[in-house]
Amino acid sequence: MAISPRYTREIPHRFRLEAQKFECGAVSLPNRYVCPDNCCKKSKKITLKGKGKILTYTIIYIASDPYTRATPFAVAVIETEEGARLTAQVVDCNFDDLKIGAKVELIFRKIMEEGPSGIINYGYKAILI
Ligand SMILES: [Zn+2]
Repeated sequence: MAISPRYTREIPHRFRLEAQKFECGAVSLPNRYVCPDNCCKKSKKITLKGKGKILTYTIIYIASDPYTRATPFAVAVIETEEGARLTAQVVDCNFDDLKIGAKVELIFRKIMEEGPSGIINYGYKAILI
């Protein structure tokens, strides 16, 4: 069984919510070479608590493979309590309950099946709390 290099590289942030806190205070998930404000490179590893709020969201009605069968679904830009900004699908919710500022929690879920052998990739999605 093969696992794609990209997926393996992303496991620390997908599985354990390991993010970077830069010396200027900016937090990034996934990890990056330079801080989001482009002012410094020095950082330490932190683990996000997995709670945050919706900054903006959209409902996807038409998606490309491999997400065609999952439509419609909600995707949100979320800011965690630590200040990291990430994009995640919001699941198990009524779309009418989605609001900017709504509190969410990141949960561990199946993300997609990859390649002809259908390797299952896991990662985080969000639920309203
Ligand atoms: Zn910085």
